[in-house]
Amino acid sequence: LLEIQNLSKSYNDKPVLKNINLKVHKGDVLVILGPSGCGKSTLLRCLNGLETIQSGSIKFDNLELTDKNIDWKIIRQRIGMVFQSYDLFPHMTVLENILLGPIRAQKRSKEEATKQAEKLLEKVGLLDKKDYYPRQLSGGQKQRIAIVRALCMNPEVILFDEVTAALDPEMVKEVLEVMIDLSKQGMTMIIVTHEMGFAKAVADKIVFLDKGEVCEISEPDEFFTSPKTERASHFLDQFF
Ligand code: ATP
Ligand code: MG
Repeated sequence: LLEIQNLSKSYNDKPVLKNINLKVHKGDVLVILGPSGCGKSTLLRCLNGLETIQSGSIKFDNLELTDKNIDWKIIRQRIGMVFQSYDLFPHMTVLENILLGPIRAQKRSKEEATKQAEKLLEKVGLLDKKDYYPRQLSGGQKQRIAIVRALCMNPEVILFDEVTAALDPEMVKEVLEVMIDLSKQGMTMIIVTHEMGFAKAVADKIVFLDKGEVCEISEPDEFFTSPKTERASHFLDQFF
Protein backbone atom coordinates (compact mmCIF):
# COMPACT_ATOMS: atom_id res chain seq x y z
CA LEU A 1 0.00 0.00 0.00
CA LEU A 2 2.83 2.36 0.93
CA GLU A 3 6.46 2.02 -0.06
CA ILE A 4 9.17 4.43 0.94
CA GLN A 5 12.47 4.15 -0.92
CA ASN A 6 15.72 5.94 -0.13
CA LEU A 7 13.91 8.87 1.42
CA SER A 8 16.16 11.65 2.67
CA LYS A 9 15.19 14.94 4.18
CA SER A 10 17.16 17.85 5.60
CA TYR A 11 16.21 21.05 7.31
CA ASN A 12 18.47 23.71 5.86
CA ASP A 13 21.59 21.61 5.57
CA LYS A 14 20.99 19.41 8.56
CA PRO A 15 19.97 15.87 7.56
CA VAL A 16 17.06 14.56 9.65
CA LEU A 17 16.04 11.52 7.63
CA LYS A 18 18.68 9.45 5.90
CA ASN A 19 17.94 6.92 3.25
CA ILE A 20 14.73 5.54 4.76
CA ASN A 21 13.27 2.36 3.28
CA LEU A 22 9.93 1.04 4.53
CA LYS A 23 7.04 -0.99 3.22
CA VAL A 24 3.54 -0.97 4.64
CA HIS A 25 1.01 -3.54 3.48
CA LYS A 26 -2.72 -3.24 3.80
CA GLY A 27 -3.75 -4.08 7.37
CA ASP A 28 -0.24 -3.61 8.79
CA VAL A 29 0.33 -1.83 12.06
CA LEU A 30 3.77 -0.28 12.05
CA VAL A 31 5.02 1.26 15.28
CA ILE A 32 7.89 3.72 15.01
CA LEU A 33 10.06 4.02 18.11
CA GLY A 34 13.14 6.09 18.74
CA PRO A 35 14.69 8.81 20.87
CA SER A 36 13.43 12.37 20.88
CA GLY A 37 14.58 14.27 17.81
CA CYS A 38 15.37 11.16 15.74
CA GLY A 39 12.92 12.16 13.01
CA LYS A 40 9.70 10.25 13.80
CA SER A 41 7.33 13.18 13.37
CA THR A 42 9.19 14.37 10.31
CA LEU A 43 8.80 10.95 8.71
CA LEU A 44 5.03 10.94 9.32
CA ARG A 45 4.77 14.50 8.03
CA CYS A 46 6.54 13.50 4.81
CA LEU A 47 3.88 10.84 4.24
CA ASN A 48 1.17 13.43 4.50
CA GLY A 49 2.75 16.12 2.34
CA LEU A 50 3.46 18.41 5.27
CA GLU A 51 7.19 18.35 4.48
CA THR A 52 9.08 18.42 1.21
CA ILE A 53 11.78 15.81 0.79
CA GLN A 54 15.17 16.13 -0.87
CA SER A 55 15.39 12.71 -2.44
CA GLY A 56 13.76 9.34 -2.58
CA SER A 57 10.33 8.09 -3.44
CA ILE A 58 7.05 7.45 -1.65
CA LYS A 59 4.65 5.18 -3.49
CA PHE A 60 1.07 5.03 -2.31
CA ASP A 61 -1.25 2.71 -4.17
CA ASN A 62 0.62 3.22 -7.47
CA LEU A 63 0.84 6.99 -7.01
CA GLU A 64 4.23 8.66 -6.57
CA LEU A 65 3.72 11.15 -3.77
CA THR A 66 6.88 13.10 -4.58
CA ASP A 67 5.33 13.97 -7.93
CA LYS A 68 4.65 17.69 -8.26
CA ASN A 69 1.17 17.08 -9.62
CA ILE A 70 -0.03 15.22 -6.55
CA ASP A 71 -3.22 16.69 -5.13
CA TRP A 72 -2.56 16.55 -1.40
CA LYS A 73 -6.15 17.44 -0.60
CA ILE A 74 -7.18 14.12 -2.08
CA ILE A 75 -4.24 12.18 -0.61
CA ARG A 76 -4.96 13.50 2.89
CA GLN A 77 -8.46 12.07 2.65
CA ARG A 78 -6.87 8.70 1.99
CA ILE A 79 -3.97 9.02 4.45
CA GLY A 80 -5.42 10.36 7.68
CA MET A 81 -3.37 11.82 10.51
CA VAL A 82 -3.97 12.33 14.21
CA PHE A 83 -1.68 14.61 16.20
CA GLN A 84 -0.76 15.06 19.83
CA SER A 85 -2.76 18.31 19.94
CA TYR A 86 -6.20 17.23 18.75
CA ASP A 87 -6.75 20.43 16.75
CA LEU A 88 -10.53 20.43 17.10
CA PHE A 89 -12.24 23.69 16.18
CA PRO A 90 -13.32 25.26 19.48
CA HIS A 91 -16.36 27.05 18.06
CA MET A 92 -17.82 23.88 16.56
CA THR A 93 -19.57 21.01 18.30
CA VAL A 94 -18.15 17.51 18.28
CA LEU A 95 -20.44 16.47 15.44
CA GLU A 96 -19.70 19.61 13.42
CA ASN A 97 -15.98 19.00 13.82
CA ILE A 98 -16.32 15.44 12.58
CA LEU A 99 -18.59 16.31 9.64
CA LEU A 100 -16.49 19.15 8.26
CA GLY A 101 -14.23 16.91 6.16
CA PRO A 102 -16.84 14.45 4.91
CA ILE A 103 -19.25 17.20 3.85
CA ARG A 104 -16.88 19.93 2.64
CA ALA A 105 -13.99 17.96 1.20
CA GLN A 106 -15.73 14.76 0.23
CA LYS A 107 -19.07 16.34 -0.75
CA ARG A 108 -21.02 13.65 1.03
CA SER A 109 -24.60 14.17 2.12
CA LYS A 110 -25.14 15.40 5.64
CA GLU A 111 -27.52 12.54 6.41
CA GLU A 112 -25.14 9.80 5.29
CA ALA A 113 -22.07 11.34 6.94
CA THR A 114 -23.99 11.95 10.18
CA LYS A 115 -25.04 8.33 10.27
CA GLN A 116 -21.44 7.19 10.00
CA ALA A 117 -20.22 9.79 12.51
CA GLU A 118 -22.80 8.66 15.07
CA LYS A 119 -21.90 5.04 14.56
CA LEU A 120 -18.21 5.83 15.14
CA LEU A 121 -19.00 8.00 18.17
CA GLU A 122 -20.98 5.17 19.65
CA LYS A 123 -18.04 2.80 19.13
CA VAL A 124 -15.72 5.06 21.14
CA GLY A 125 -18.39 5.62 23.79
CA LEU A 126 -18.99 9.30 23.08
CA LEU A 127 -22.29 9.46 21.24
CA ASP A 128 -23.84 11.36 24.15
CA LYS A 129 -21.23 14.11 23.65
CA LYS A 130 -22.01 14.84 20.00
CA ASP A 131 -23.44 18.30 20.69
CA TYR A 132 -20.76 19.29 23.18
CA TYR A 133 -18.04 21.80 22.41
CA PRO A 134 -14.40 20.71 22.72
CA ARG A 135 -13.88 22.80 25.87
CA GLN A 136 -16.52 20.68 27.62
CA LEU A 137 -14.50 17.50 27.08
CA SER A 138 -11.54 15.89 28.79
CA GLY A 139 -8.26 15.42 26.92
CA GLY A 140 -8.91 11.74 26.40
CA GLN A 141 -12.38 12.46 25.06
CA LYS A 142 -11.04 15.13 22.70
CA GLN A 143 -8.43 12.74 21.39
CA ARG A 144 -11.03 10.03 20.76
CA ILE A 145 -13.08 12.62 18.85
CA ALA A 146 -9.99 13.51 16.80
CA ILE A 147 -9.62 9.82 15.93
CA VAL A 148 -13.30 9.58 14.96
CA ARG A 149 -12.87 12.67 12.80
CA ALA A 150 -10.02 10.99 10.95
CA LEU A 151 -11.95 7.72 10.62
CA CYS A 152 -15.05 9.40 9.25
CA MET A 153 -13.11 10.22 6.06
CA ASN A 154 -12.71 6.47 5.49
CA PRO A 155 -8.94 6.70 5.04
CA GLU A 156 -6.89 3.76 3.84
CA VAL A 157 -4.08 4.49 6.30
CA ILE A 158 -3.96 6.54 9.49
CA LEU A 159 -0.81 8.10 10.92
CA PHE A 160 -0.74 8.67 14.67
CA ASP A 161 1.90 10.96 16.15
CA GLU A 162 2.18 10.51 19.93
CA VAL A 163 -1.55 10.90 20.35
CA THR A 164 -1.42 10.14 24.07
CA ALA A 165 1.66 12.19 24.93
CA ALA A 166 -0.30 15.21 26.16
CA LEU A 167 -2.82 13.21 28.18
CA ASP A 168 -3.06 12.56 31.89
CA PRO A 169 -2.16 8.94 32.64
CA GLU A 170 -5.74 7.92 33.45
CA MET A 171 -6.88 9.01 30.00
CA VAL A 172 -4.16 7.28 28.04
CA LYS A 173 -5.77 3.87 28.23
CA GLU A 174 -9.14 4.87 26.75
CA VAL A 175 -7.38 6.29 23.70
CA LEU A 176 -5.02 3.35 23.26
CA GLU A 177 -7.98 0.97 23.46
CA VAL A 178 -9.62 2.71 20.52
CA MET A 179 -6.42 2.23 18.51
CA ILE A 180 -6.15 -1.43 19.50
CA ASP A 181 -9.75 -1.95 18.35
CA LEU A 182 -8.91 -0.33 15.03
CA SER A 183 -5.96 -2.63 14.54
CA LYS A 184 -8.19 -5.62 15.18
CA GLN A 185 -10.57 -4.36 12.52
CA GLY A 186 -7.70 -4.44 10.04
CA MET A 187 -7.02 -0.71 9.79
CA THR A 188 -3.60 0.10 8.31
CA MET A 189 -1.79 2.29 10.80
CA ILE A 190 1.59 3.90 11.35
CA ILE A 191 1.97 4.81 14.98
CA VAL A 192 4.60 6.88 16.77
CA THR A 193 4.41 6.32 20.51
CA HIS A 194 6.41 6.25 23.71
CA GLU A 195 4.03 3.71 25.29
CA MET A 196 6.10 0.53 25.14
CA GLY A 197 3.42 -1.87 26.41
CA PHE A 198 1.01 -0.57 23.83
CA ALA A 199 3.65 -0.75 21.09
CA LYS A 200 4.30 -4.37 21.88
CA ALA A 201 0.59 -5.22 21.95
CA VAL A 202 -0.48 -3.42 18.80
CA ALA A 203 2.47 -3.67 16.40
CA ASP A 204 2.97 -6.12 13.58
CA LYS A 205 6.39 -4.56 13.07
CA ILE A 206 8.51 -2.25 15.16
CA VAL A 207 10.63 0.25 13.28
CA PHE A 208 13.44 1.65 15.40
CA LEU A 209 14.67 5.01 14.21
CA ASP A 210 17.82 6.68 15.51
CA LYS A 211 19.48 9.85 14.22
CA GLY A 212 17.32 9.83 11.13
CA GLU A 213 18.12 6.25 10.16
CA VAL A 214 16.11 3.06 10.31
CA CYS A 215 18.33 0.97 12.59
CA GLU A 216 16.12 -2.01 12.94
CA ILE A 217 12.80 -3.47 11.79
CA SER A 218 11.63 -6.37 13.96
CA GLU A 219 8.67 -8.30 15.20
CA PRO A 220 7.63 -6.78 18.53
CA ASP A 221 8.50 -9.88 20.59
CA GLU A 222 11.95 -9.96 19.11
CA PHE A 223 12.50 -6.23 19.45
CA PHE A 224 11.59 -6.12 23.13
CA THR A 225 13.41 -9.29 24.18
CA SER A 226 16.47 -9.25 21.95
CA PRO A 227 16.98 -6.08 19.95
CA LYS A 228 19.43 -6.50 17.11
CA THR A 229 21.35 -3.30 17.66
CA GLU A 230 23.19 -1.74 20.57
CA ARG A 231 21.38 1.52 19.93
CA ALA A 232 17.99 -0.16 20.29
CA SER A 233 18.86 -1.96 23.50
CA HIS A 234 20.22 1.28 24.91
CA PHE A 235 16.96 3.00 23.98
CA LEU A 236 14.94 0.25 25.67
CA ASP A 237 17.00 0.46 28.87
CA GLN A 238 15.31 3.71 29.82
CA PHE A 239 11.88 2.05 29.90
CA PHE A 240 12.61 -1.24 31.64
P1 ATP B 1 10.08 13.70 19.49
O1 ATP B 1 10.10 12.30 20.00
O2 ATP B 1 10.68 14.65 20.46
O3 ATP B 1 8.73 14.13 18.99
P2 ATP B 1 10.89 13.29 16.73
O4 ATP B 1 11.55 11.97 16.56
O5 ATP B 1 9.46 13.40 16.33
O6 ATP B 1 11.09 13.76 18.23
P3 ATP B 1 11.30 15.34 14.76
O7 ATP B 1 10.28 16.31 15.26
O8 ATP B 1 10.98 14.59 13.54
O9 ATP B 1 11.74 14.35 15.90
O10 ATP B 1 12.63 16.18 14.52
C1 ATP B 1 13.79 15.61 13.95
C2 ATP B 1 14.88 16.65 13.86
O11 ATP B 1 14.52 17.68 12.96
C3 ATP B 1 15.19 17.33 15.19
O12 ATP B 1 16.58 17.47 15.28
C4 ATP B 1 14.53 18.68 15.06
O13 ATP B 1 15.23 19.64 15.78
C5 ATP B 1 14.58 18.95 13.59
N1 ATP B 1 13.43 19.73 13.12
C6 ATP B 1 12.12 19.37 13.23
N2 ATP B 1 11.31 20.29 12.65
C7 ATP B 1 12.13 21.26 12.18
C8 ATP B 1 11.92 22.49 11.47
N3 ATP B 1 10.69 22.89 11.13
N4 ATP B 1 13.00 23.24 11.15
C9 ATP B 1 14.25 22.83 11.45
N5 ATP B 1 14.53 21.69 12.12
C10 ATP B 1 13.49 20.91 12.47
MG1 MG C 1 7.74 13.97 17.33
